[in-house]
Amino acid sequence: MADRIAPRDDIAMMDGYHSPQVQVDVRLNTNESPLPPPQAFLDAVAAAVEGTDWHRYPDRQATELRGRLAAQHGVAPGQVFVANGSNEVLQTLSLAYGGPGRSIAVFEPTYAMHSQIARITGATVATGFRGEDLALDLDEVRRIIAEARPAITYLCSPNNPTGMVETAETVTEVLGLVEDVGGLLVVDEAYGQFAPWSALELLSEDRSLVVTRTYSKTWSMAAARLGYLLGPTWVVDELEKVVLPYHLDALKQAAGTAALDFVDDMERRVSILTEERGRVDAALRDLPLEVWPSAANFILFRPTDADADDVWQALVDRSVLVRNCSSWPGLTGCLRVTIGTADEDDRFLTALREVLS
Ligand SMILES: *Cc1c(COP(=O)(O)O)cnc(C)c1O
Repeated sequence: MADRIAPRDDIAMMDGYHSPQVQVDVRLNTNESPLPPPQAFLDAVAAAVEGTDWHRYPDRQATELRGRLAAQHGVAPGQVFVANGSNEVLQTLSLAYGGPGRSIAVFEPTYAMHSQIARITGATVATGFRGEDLALDLDEVRRIIAEARPAITYLCSPNNPTGMVETAETVTEVLGLVEDVGGLLVVDEAYGQFAPWSALELLSEDRSLVVTRTYSKTWSMAAARLGYLLGPTWVVDELEKVVLPYHLDALKQAAGTAALDFVDDMERRVSILTEERGRVDAALRDLPLEVWPSAANFILFRPTDADADDVWQALVDRSVLVRNCSSWPGLTGCLRVTIGTADEDDRFLTALREVLS
């Protein structure tokens, strides 16, 4: 046989996205909601299945869903772009504005998919680093933007995996720096409903700012793969050119629309999880750990007297799965736990106390 085809050199050298799905009783590793959406939502989705014209392509414009999201956020439907998870939103942004010969700036540690997707689309990743305390360092942001003149700059607020929120002043300042080099600022707000403010406040037709959101976390719909972006119409128009035709299936559009009838339920789940986070945070602070204050549905922590890989494995042995971040840039020795139900969190805390004692 002749030589087997090789992928692109840069793809061959790349590792895939790695998040082990281990069979355990308590899964606190992917920041999903531990609480399902309400029964009335499931009934609405079942009715939508019945009403689907299966022999027809879906509405390419996702008119109803975009209209409802626009109304929800007080923007025009033309300022909303919807895709299969916010990851597809990020990929579409990267295809439209990144790609070969362009660079994309990220500030580690942050959400791994920002740089992963950038590389897959052939862009150069300009990597900046947060400070010792894992807070964004504006001098570093200035340095990276001046050096790389990135087409896209990513912020993530609350940041995954640190849980930290960027202030309005910080985002405004970074936006100014990004615009000075003719770039686009993307603020990933996957956990936006947990935060005290949103960069949506800064959106405007004449600013180079977009904000991404997802149904995967606060909406308890990780299974649906649905996310969206809010931004200027001139960005949305370019994304529509790049994305595959009919990329968003009819059922997903209906599920996303139906969910918006249950905003109160979503907000109730957010407040339950916020309270539960306070309880877990307080318990963690009684243990030999460094704990980062979080404004999301997860907490980053570092065992001070034990090896993180050992702690992770010992938790798995007790059927509790958390995220092992200890090999991520800037996160040596760190683990991240998603806030679950009170029962799940108790099982996690009991196991962790046992492991650390
Ligand atoms: C979980 C998460 C997402 C979600 O991606 P989806 O494709 O919408 O599931 C996006 N950004 C960040 C920072 C996340 O943590």
